[in-house]
Amino acid sequence: MNEKMKALGNSPSKIREIFEYSRGRKSEIGEENVFDFSLGNPSIPAPDSVNNSIKSLIDNGDSVALHGYTSAQGDFSVRKALADSIKDRFSVDASPDDIYMTCGAAASLTITLKAICQPDDEVIVLSPFFPEYRVFIENAGAKINIVNTLPPDFTVDFSAFQNAISEKTVAVLINFPNNPTGAVLSAEDAQNFGDVLRKKSAEYSHPIYLISDEPYRELCYEGKAPFMPKYYENTIVDYSFSKSLSLPGERIGYIFVPSFVKDARDIYAAVCGAGRSMGYVCAPSLMQHALKNCFYDTADISSYNQNRVLFFNALSKMGYTVTKPGGAFYLFVKSPSGDSNEFCERAKRYEILMVPSDSFGIKGYARIAYCVKKETIEKSLPAFKALMEEYKK
Ligand code: PLP
Repeated sequence: MNEKMKALGNSPSKIREIFEYSRGRKSEIGEENVFDFSLGNPSIPAPDSVNNSIKSLIDNGDSVALHGYTSAQGDFSVRKALADSIKDRFSVDASPDDIYMTCGAAASLTITLKAICQPDDEVIVLSPFFPEYRVFIENAGAKINIVNTLPPDFTVDFSAFQNAISEKTVAVLINFPNNPTGAVLSAEDAQNFGDVLRKKSAEYSHPIYLISDEPYRELCYEGKAPFMPKYYENTIVDYSFSKSLSLPGERIGYIFVPSFVKDARDIYAAVCGAGRSMGYVCAPSLMQHALKNCFYDTADISSYNQNRVLFFNALSKMGYTVTKPGGAFYLFVKSPSGDSNEFCERAKRYEILMVPSDSFGIKGYARIAYCVKKETIEKSLPAFKALMEEYKK
């Protein structure tokens, strides 16, 4: 037996652990009495365009082809439509041969990392980060190298970042808009990434790839997120429709290896090989076809924005230290005691479920997923107030 895999299976992520606790608690005291902010599961419906597209394919399509295998990298006409939309939306050269359809961002990341890394290589991530990064990087045989960002806004510490890069660095994995902080990268910082990575790639005589994990790209409330291939040529985009189209259970996303990436054709071949070696076969066929006409669409995120403003203002007024998130659907709140686990455990007594920050690679905070009904937030506010009163005593 693979002891490493057994250990992984026996220690589910903290997020999943709290989610399971919430299910038990909801059955005990009723769903409406639990303020569950644990999971980043979209609460708004997928756009009509997606549902109509699925219906029309089922009603009018060739059901054998519809449910059949596509080519491993994805159906050609789907990749063509996607490449055209990337060209159109970001003014970046893109062709169907640069795109590999995946089962969501988790698959995009595991495949990209497996394609790029060799044993002993290092991948830099910025803390706080999505906890599964550690699992994905180690699964690719590489080592994770963590660089802290700068609170309270969780901006990139470019001096620490530059110092962390070594001969062993093959890739840098970033995620903006960010889970768990909601931070969005500025155009200036996007430029800084390009400058540093270009300089360091030259210094070590090998390309350092930037992997841009973008499940929250469209969830930006104040402006737009910079498209990283425009700022650094050796960028590989790992995308998912889980959040932007509210389709997390459908498992659909893609990898974009722009043609101007160093050794692009070899990297793309390695992506295909990595997908093959991990048995992905192809991304769900029905979803590939359904999204063919939806690449310009986004779910209506206005309710997330309302939740963001309501929650941020209310918690700030109560005395919590919260950074206003520019994107995604998370609030990152400082623990009034400085201890994230103590804070989240104490909150549980008020039926508030948040995720302690330690597994995101930083101590002293809690993550609140506000992709919930507005009423849940409104109902939870007296509980948050009472919790804060305890700390003020
Ligand atoms: N990356 C980040 C930053 C995430 O927050 C998530 C999911 O929450 C993923 C990747 C995985 O997304 P998917 O459901 O598309 O696999």
